[in-house]
Amino acid sequence: MSRIVLLDRNMVNLIAAGEVIERPASVVKELMENSIDAGATALTVTIEDGGRRLISVSDNGNGMDADDLATAFEAHATSKIREAADLNRIATLGFRGEALASIASVAQVRAVTRAPDSDSAHCIEIDCGDKGPVVPCSGDVGTTIQVRDLFYKTPARRKFLRTANTELGHITEQFARIALPQGHLDLALTHNGRELYRLSKTDDLKQRVSRLFPMLVSAGSDDLIETETNEKGIRIRALLGLPGLSRTSNQFQYTFLNGRFIRDKFISHAIKEAYRGMLDANRFPVVFLFIEMPFSEYDVNVHPTKVEVRFYNSNLVHSQVLGVLRERLLGTNLNIAAQLPARESAPGDEENVGRDLRKEQIADAMAEFFKRHRPVHQPQFDLRTEIAADRRDSDYRRTAIDRPAPAPVPMTHDRRYLQIHDSYIIEQTDEGFVIIDQHALHERMMYEMLQRRVQRESLESQRLLLPESIEVSEAQIGVIESHADVLTQLGIELTPFGSRTYAVQAFPAMLGNVSPTEFVQGLLDLLVERGATMAKQDLFNDILSMVACKAAIKAGQKLSDSEIRQLLADRERFESTSRCPHGRPTTIRFTIGELEKQFKRT
Ligand code: ADP
Ligand code: MG
Repeated sequence: MSRIVLLDRNMVNLIAAGEVIERPASVVKELMENSIDAGATALTVTIEDGGRRLISVSDNGNGMDADDLATAFEAHATSKIREAADLNRIATLGFRGEALASIASVAQVRAVTRAPDSDSAHCIEIDCGDKGPVVPCSGDVGTTIQVRDLFYKTPARRKFLRTANTELGHITEQFARIALPQGHLDLALTHNGRELYRLSKTDDLKQRVSRLFPMLVSAGSDDLIETETNEKGIRIRALLGLPGLSRTSNQFQYTFLNGRFIRDKFISHAIKEAYRGMLDANRFPVVFLFIEMPFSEYDVNVHPTKVEVRFYNSNLVHSQVLGVLRERLLGTNLNIAAQLPARESAPGDEENVGRDLRKEQIADAMAEFFKRHRPVHQPQFDLRTEIAADRRDSDYRRTAIDRPAPAPVPMTHDRRYLQIHDSYIIEQTDEGFVIIDQHALHERMMYEMLQRRVQRESLESQRLLLPESIEVSEAQIGVIESHADVLTQLGIELTPFGSRTYAVQAFPAMLGNVSPTEFVQGLLDLLVERGATMAKQDLFNDILSMVACKAAIKAGQKLSDSEIRQLLADRERFESTSRCPHGRPTTIRFTIGELEKQFKRT
């Protein structure tokens, strides 16, 4: 007797359901995707009891005629592909023909549908694979599919459902993933009779995001900036959270490819790179990324729920995403706006009258303040002419710290500044004033400069007159050998000097004030700790930020006028100085408007 049999239709569907229908949210996803594929412009999702009792999706799409309704719930029934070549140009969200069959094998399903050219609707009921007849019924053009009592005949699956709230959380997540890229749709989601979301096709992207994620925009939608590009066959549109909006997980990173939510490690990496130096290592930016490119440039047929795709040219996708994000972020003033407590409301205040006058008065008062407190007040210099573009590292360091002030060149407007507590510099600006963390700013500039430099050549090295010896561990000897290229690039020369001892012969010139043995020990520790696991570029960036930190002006270091001027002037040469390489802000800005509010002048 043969032991191999072909599984019956119901078994095939049940097995497929195991893969595609994990929980109520999966049903919501599949039904919403079908509605979108059917050309709907409006759809309503109705949920009861976290989706255990009811999931219903209603659309105004193209519907089905009676014959199609009868086949739609069969395994591998699809209207979206016909032949192998179609797999290379999938423009619909679905194509595998298994969703309806799977859902109907594990729940009670009722579908009502009507095609635009048909004068009546048709209806079918299926109870866990048990299919009833197609019968005429009343209904509008479009389709409504109701799914009741999911998994009621498969207790093992039902047992894995969580509380209604948890399941609802998964449902709203799926809803958001589908709703976000479908800007042309009216959408609503209702749970137990309460409307949770209503999105209109007239909303713009930011409004859509703020309706779906109110927690992100409560602080003011200025924290999300938009950018767009269309190059090399890849169109990218993105909504980027400023660093202040960052999160402890990547939960708020959404990537869509031609309207489909996807996860992709190349894209995640590009996002991380784009924010490099702007965030602490354990923070994740908020990013909504919409990518459009030809269907023939990637394969969606690699994952049952199609959440992963395979790009044929993943490097190009990576570099395009990184490019557009980085450019936008570097071009944005990421200085932190001062967080002042909100002003108590004062009804009856005349709003606009005399506002400009008051602004002037405040500007004057501030100027007066700075005068009285004996600020460093010098004519401004045109520093661009002062700074030779190809200055060497060691000079750069000296300039900011020891070099005498360059000859003054008069400028048209004043700049006023003041160092406080030997750590912060207060600088008057056109809008108000900024407080600069001198160490953080200098560190940031050193980091940028180092990055540019090491792309071209190794750092300038200085030979020590008296080599210093360091004791090293076995593991450290290992990294001295395996990362010899890194040491060379940094301008560090180590020679063996006995079994566990090395001599530091040469050392980066820009680290003139730093103890060579201490620095090399720190570097070797870092290499031992992360050298084997980290990507090379990431590792090198970490090393550069360590160098920048050591080489930078310290907090608590008194600066002369010329040093302060140099620091402020050098800042103009760097695109991205508003965060130190560790992600801390370098500058906090205060506006006159905020001062007016605080002093209750408005
Ligand atoms: P797929 O979406 O992969 O084709 P499904 O099992 O999800 O497979 O759906 C089977 C078919 O049923 C679809 O190809 C489509 O023709 C039809 N269908 C499903 N839902 C709808 C809908 N809301 N409106 C119109 N047709 C639909
Ligand atoms: Mg489908």
